[in-house]
Amino acid sequence: MEKYKNFINNKWIESESKETIKVDDPSNGKIIGEISCAKKNEVDLAVEAAKNSYNSRVLVDMPLLSRAKLMRKIAEETRKVSKEGGELLCYENGKNIASAIKEFNDVADMFDYYAGLTDKLEGKTIPVAKNVFDYTVLEPFGISAHVVPWNFPLSMIGRSLSCSFATGNSTIIKTAELTPLSATVFAKAIQNAGVPEGLINIICGYGNEAGSYLVSHEDVNHVVFTGSVATGKKILHACADKAIPAVVELGGKSAGIVYPDADLNEVLESARSGIFSVAGQICTAMSRLVVHKSIKDELVDKLVDMSKSLKIGPGIEKDTDLTPVISENQLQKVEGYARSGIQEGAEAAYGGKRLEREGYFMEPTVLNNVKQSMTVAREEIFGPVLSVLEYEDQEEAIDIANDTEYGLGAGVFTKDLKKASWTASKLEAGQVYVNKWFTGNHATPFGGYKQSGYSREKGVDGLKSYLQVKNVGISLG
Ligand code: NAD
Repeated sequence: MEKYKNFINNKWIESESKETIKVDDPSNGKIIGEISCAKKNEVDLAVEAAKNSYNSRVLVDMPLLSRAKLMRKIAEETRKVSKEGGELLCYENGKNIASAIKEFNDVADMFDYYAGLTDKLEGKTIPVAKNVFDYTVLEPFGISAHVVPWNFPLSMIGRSLSCSFATGNSTIIKTAELTPLSATVFAKAIQNAGVPEGLINIICGYGNEAGSYLVSHEDVNHVVFTGSVATGKKILHACADKAIPAVVELGGKSAGIVYPDADLNEVLESARSGIFSVAGQICTAMSRLVVHKSIKDELVDKLVDMSKSLKIGPGIEKDTDLTPVISENQLQKVEGYARSGIQEGAEAAYGGKRLEREGYFMEPTVLNNVKQSMTVAREEIFGPVLSVLEYEDQEEAIDIANDTEYGLGAGVFTKDLKKASWTASKLEAGQVYVNKWFTGNHATPFGGYKQSGYSREKGVDGLKSYLQVKNVGISLG
């Protein structure tokens, strides 16, 4: 069995404890590799490496065009390993091979995108008084610790690391214990790109051990967390104790409103990717559809036909639409949610149970006649379970969509763009998709309202979270 290590100060480091974390393939439960488990000692080493690199000012003082060139080199090297890394990601996460390779290419795109912004981080001059020259400069925080989840292991690394690097911070990434292997392939790209030592460190250990120790470490002065609301709150507490900033990107319970004039084929395509790709384990999954009474039966029939047509199988098989969920625990949780929906009065128009085969496969599930009071409509399921709710008037549709503690994504399907923009203005969510789920890319700001978090990643807005403003006033006498 292949054994992977932590990447600290550009070296491959084994845990002093000799403990490892075993990783399985969710399509059959077989162990595919193990990684040396980072503990306090390895967190200390990673933070020390980041601190030394930051104090050396190797990135901070690097001419900005050179920083941009280095970022483009990272992008190039990441693309070169996208097939190797994508395969490992496909095996450890279970997702479709094309999506897994795309994650590596997305990381490369993010590095290319922010490379172009490194030399455009401009301050301003402020007219304080006749004899004062006052200006601002944007500076990095220093040592930035990023804790990432397992559903998009590489994209989430790329999203925060590209910003952190572009702005001159030194970074430590703590990968998720369920999917730590593919990040080691990315670490090879970092090495191949010639990134100076200590600027990027990638370690894996358990969340409640290495993760919590890392975010509380006295030398860490900036934290980025992507994951569940429960963990996010713990991390916010840890950051509050040290009065350091935290970027938090949390869970969701996104709803799409379907107006009577919607193109139902667009709704179907959106459901296919929005709730069934990556087995619904997407923070902005289209987990609820709020459908006008007049078209609900027709849409549910179409959703059932589409669900039946999905190609189910291991992500490594070409063109699979529905792949396994990440673990047996997750499968039990998702199946439990579907069962609770049925017990509370919803109808399983399709699916509702695990599939009788090896691996952690859940049937594509469409629950009809869901009421917003039901658990399935309120809690994040993180599996291929779509809840269909009915409404009669527009205001009611908005109320249902907003009736959640989350506020990550939302959608609207209509041919009437005036109605679409009215709806978008009423929806309490960080991103609103009109007529197609997931319209954004690396250039569009992404983040939550309400308990889904308050930070913004991606796009030009994303950079703000990684920089602090310094004001300098010079008396000219
Ligand atoms: P999680 O919160 O269980 O774990 C996320 C990471 O936090 C893992 O690396 C884990 O090891 C670490 N962790 C756990 N406890 C910790 C602690 N006490 N201190 C420090 N680190 C700790 O989440 P998950 O199950 O890996 O991911 C799924 C969740 O992530 C879902 O809620 C999903 O919606 C959310 N998510 C959000 C976004 C977004 O951009 N908003 C993107 C992807 C996933």
